[in-house]
Amino acid sequence: MPVADYATYCEMLDRARKGRFAYPAVNVTSLSTANGVLKGLAESKSDGIIQVSTGGAAFASGTAVKDMVLGAISIAEHVHRVAARYPIYVALHTDHCQADKLDTFVNPLVDETERRRAAGQPNLFSSHMFDGSALPLNQNLDIAVKLLERFQKNDLILEIEAGVVGGEEDGVKASAAAKLYTTPEDTLEVARRLNTVKGARYLLAATFGNVHGVYKPGHVKLKPSILKDCQDAVVKQFGEAARFHLVFHGGSGSELEDIHNAIDYGVVKMNVDTDMQYAFTRAIADHFFRNYDGVLKVDGEVGSKKAYDPRSYLALAEAALAQRVKKAVEELRATSTTMMAVGV
Ligand SMILES: [Zn+2]
Repeated sequence: MPVADYATYCEMLDRARKGRFAYPAVNVTSLSTANGVLKGLAESKSDGIIQVSTGGAAFASGTAVKDMVLGAISIAEHVHRVAARYPIYVALHTDHCQADKLDTFVNPLVDETERRRAAGQPNLFSSHMFDGSALPLNQNLDIAVKLLERFQKNDLILEIEAGVVGGEEDGVKASAAAKLYTTPEDTLEVARRLNTVKGARYLLAATFGNVHGVYKPGHVKLKPSILKDCQDAVVKQFGEAARFHLVFHGGSGSELEDIHNAIDYGVVKMNVDTDMQYAFTRAIADHFFRNYDGVLKVDGEVGSKKAYDPRSYLALAEAALAQRVKKAVEELRATSTTMMAVGV
């Protein structure tokens, strides 16, 4: 199916929250990784989300060009074209964009969507994240409200963050004193400000101890009950319609119980990057160690073209990534939930 349109994407998110499952949102940086995610989603019969970070987008444009807008457009166009061959829906999203990068990443991509809409074409991306978590909450929300007003006119969904995800992603490190746990008061303020934009849709990354990356057991203390406290507070104050659609950042390496609790409290999108990176690279490492004298020219020999043709190990990596996506879908209780299957 083609990339999910706005109505389909909204329906996907609503069905997930109601049915207590969530979509994996997987970061991609190349054709191979994007194809691997689509393959995994299709084999799981699950819809899902493909996302691009600022660094991933710059990489996708080529190391000589390093243009993150161009790279993001390139990946999105590839997904628009090939997604039509898979029996699932996928939404296209851009990951963390700090305030100082809005004018060089998200805004030009929204310009591009506006240009396409004016020409009668589908949106380029389905949703974008603005990460204002390094700012005081009122400044974070001032920017978010302005973005949401523009997004609402263009059938785009906004993802924002209140609280800070720990660890490091794309070279951006959270400060040691970062606020890793969002409070109900923070999320009430989010609802109070953002719900003034009528007809708009947004996703909230509320933090409950999340950390980007994978660490040894005991390092990360997740408290999903924080999400329940935030939902209870917002529903009490603003009614059921204000209940959040939540995003779980730093999903890699999480305990199944924490994942399930988070879903029960309204998480509909879980970002998984690190686990996917490892799955992809693990298959390549395996190929290289098994075919050492094929991928390398050892002792005056000529190696094996079959072994060092990048297609040989990238196909294995794509399959391994697809397998890991299937596992994520299962953990998120999304297997066989595609809207294609129910004929929606
Ligand atoms: Zn994140």
